[in-house]
Amino acid sequence: MDNQRVAIVTGGSRGIGRAIAEELASAGFRTVVNYATRPDAAESVVESISSAGGVAVSVGGDVGQAEDRQRLVDTTLEKFGRIDVLVNNAGITSQGRNDLLQATEASWDLVFDTNLKGPFFLSQRVAQAMLDLISRGKITTGQLINISSISAYAVSTNRADYCMTKAALEMMTQLFATRLANENIGVFEICPGIIESDMTAPVREKYDQRIAQGLTPIRRWGRTEDVARAVRAIVDGYFPFSTGERFNIDGGFHIRSL
Ligand code: NAP
Repeated sequence: MDNQRVAIVTGGSRGIGRAIAEELASAGFRTVVNYATRPDAAESVVESISSAGGVAVSVGGDVGQAEDRQRLVDTTLEKFGRIDVLVNNAGITSQGRNDLLQATEASWDLVFDTNLKGPFFLSQRVAQAMLDLISRGKITTGQLINISSISAYAVSTNRADYCMTKAALEMMTQLFATRLANENIGVFEICPGIIESDMTAPVREKYDQRIAQGLTPIRRWGRTEDVARAVRAIVDGYFPFSTGERFNIDGGFHIRSL
């Protein structure tokens, strides 16, 4: 069915990406579930979508590698003939969570490749494909959605590289939003707070305490579904006169108080 929309979700195999992939599938998208190292996890998302009556495929590939990004886009176009939505979700935290005075170049390179270079050049490639699809009448609009973090503006001195990549995603969102504003392609940033996932499992107890003490006005952990619903609201087309917008999905963490 060629008129069925298609979404790519990077890092769609676990955590927030999995919830986004499942939400988009339930919204009627044919969904490409990208993963880096765990094909089993990606296949379980594909199975869950298929058993609910949806269409999904898993495509392995490291978003930090040019040839893998190219294969992700090529496979999507070969399989489905269109791309309507890209969700740049894949991300990793600082390797070793070292204090910034001991931070390593190895962690910097890996985190920047995965969290920033990958999303930038994948957005570039997908935007080119979308422009071509729009010019050929295959799609009418496109959307690029970047998953950043409250670490874009809240410092963690043991995750400097992670914080800096997430801060840069805000500018990246605004750059692509401006370039594509008159091309019928909307570009958005979703800024999650503290969300239950494998990424935050090692710091579970720390945040249990801090949330109970009032770190976030809404005193609970965020759920992967909270982020997925924000993506759904965007792709459902409720923000036609917005682009470059940041959506905070953080229990109110971003509010300053005295
Ligand atoms: P997660 O549970 O650790 O899952 C990460 C996902 O990304 C996995 O599917 C993983 O695939 C994939 N991935 C990792 N490196 C990749 C690469 N180089 N290429 C392609 N896929 C890759 O993480 P999460 O908590 O769901 O986080 C998802 C996004 O939300 C990240 O960008 C993160 O920074 C952001 N975020 C998370 C939180 C939070 O509290 N959890 C808060 C704010 C923002 P494999 O399993 O195959 O490795």
